[in-house]
Amino acid sequence: MTGASHLRPEFVEFIPGRLEPGVLYISRRYATASHLCCCGCEREVVTPLNPAKWRITERAGKVSLAPSVGNWSFPCRSHYWINGNRIQWATAMAPEVIQAVQARDRRDAELCVPKQRGWISRVVDKMRGASSLLLSKLKSWWR
Ligand SMILES: [Zn+2]
Repeated sequence: MTGASHLRPEFVEFIPGRLEPGVLYISRRYATASHLCCCGCEREVVTPLNPAKWRITERAGKVSLAPSVGNWSFPCRSHYWINGNRIQWATAMAPEVIQAVQARDRRDAELCVPKQRGWISRVVDKMRGASSLLLSKLKSWWR
């Protein structure tokens, strides 16, 4: 998937009717943020800012949006984090995983969870590879 790597935050009173790609519009007054889908499909992504939805953190002029943005309802189904103005792309998820994530409270989808999951699955894959190697060795020994 190709897409943008950065978003520029722009603090506004009103979210403009026409959004520029690559800009994250943030209206503190109306507690909402909006941007065009970072994959380039240019669909409008609206992220309400409240404890049950998303929150914006700002540090040294760089903004992070949590939890991740999952555009499951778009044809692109893009999924990414906005972290310090940077867009971190999540790997494409299987439909059943998307359903599980949707069913869960969005607040559970904290930044560190998918990273850990990726690390664990890599280890599991390695272990699988090692055990099948062992099995084939055992088999050849028995023959
Ligand atoms: Zn998209």
